[in-house]
Amino acid sequence: MAEAGDSVGRSEDENVPTYENVDVNSKIFRVGTFGRLWTEKLRPSDFSFQDGDEEAEDAAFSLDMGITPQTLREIKEICSPDTLKSGTETVQTEIVPAEPILRTLRLRKRRQDYQETLQRDFSDRQNIHASELEGLAAGKKPMDPKYLVPEGEIILSVNVLYPAIFQRFRFTRQHQTLRVLGSQKLTQLRDAICCVSDLQVNGEFGNTPDMVPEFISKDLYKSAFFFFEGVFYNDFRYPECIDLSKTIVDWTKTHDFPPFQSRKMEETLFSDLRLKVGYPYQYCHQGDCEHVVLITDIRIAHQDDCLDMNLYPLLAYKHRVKTRKCSVCHMYISRWITTNDSLAPMDPCLFCEQCFRMLHYDKQGNKLCDFLAYPYVDPGAFN
Ligand SMILES: [Zn+2]
Ligand SMILES: [Zn+2]
Repeated sequence: MAEAGDSVGRSEDENVPTYENVDVNSKIFRVGTFGRLWTEKLRPSDFSFQDGDEEAEDAAFSLDMGITPQTLREIKEICSPDTLKSGTETVQTEIVPAEPILRTLRLRKRRQDYQETLQRDFSDRQNIHASELEGLAAGKKPMDPKYLVPEGEIILSVNVLYPAIFQRFRFTRQHQTLRVLGSQKLTQLRDAICCVSDLQVNGEFGNTPDMVPEFISKDLYKSAFFFFEGVFYNDFRYPECIDLSKTIVDWTKTHDFPPFQSRKMEETLFSDLRLKVGYPYQYCHQGDCEHVVLITDIRIAHQDDCLDMNLYPLLAYKHRVKTRKCSVCHMYISRWITTNDSLAPMDPCLFCEQCFRMLHYDKQGNKLCDFLAYPYVDPGAFN
């Protein structure tokens, strides 16, 4: 890749990404055109999901090495792992006899015993979870061939960060990493992003804790937008959706900003987008829940990728957070948060369902003191 300003006097295709800031972000380019340029440059066999033709590969190899096909066959036979077998051994290499005689087995047993003594810490659990996710999807093919990801399809890796509404802004690491296909709509990514503010139930229910409604913020406030390169992509799938970006667009008109546009999220494919890789963009929902969104990678699908298009957007990483426990029993996940509560040790204070009821109400369900109570959804709900 070339550095910014390095291209003077060169004919440069603006759809081939080059660095704008070295090791940080690329210059702007169109996703679909970049994918098309790759598939034109490569041979179809380079991005095919079929295994290569072994005979043709062998012929090319013996030509490269200057050996006869007969010699190649002999080398393959001599170097084959099959020659290491006696024909009677078991193939389960993980099972080591309790008291092995062979030195290699003794070494393996010592390693197995050591691994069992290892403690797993919290940060390691994150990586284990990520590799489990990856292992589940790798090379997965759909039951119905019509859902097979087409050869030459583009895969984008999208990092979604924690919302920036936390006052202390502690969570700067990514919340989720998702893989989306170039042929998918922005709304499909929107639906795959899980954020705790979508699950909130609005209202104060101190007097009527049994009347907490079933519907959550996501059902009530369906508007949202993505912002990529001067364009707001608003979700207009439902009649009650409003243009969340309108206030910003109107504000910028009076403040000497370049003109911003507004388009429909549900009509935009990822391959239609013009963007920079590594550049921070935005996803906004629930009015003011704002997440930084980064496209970290764009590439052609490989046969080892998940090839079932129904599984995309594919979760590749999910940050696990510690759940916040009830401040009375320190055991169960909090379901209520109270303020102005004379029975609580702090303000605001978190309670599990049972402790909240037992502390604040008598047997007939009457309030024992004045307080305000709100249903609480723990950020660890997605773990
Ligand atoms: Zn959010
Ligand atoms: Zn409790």
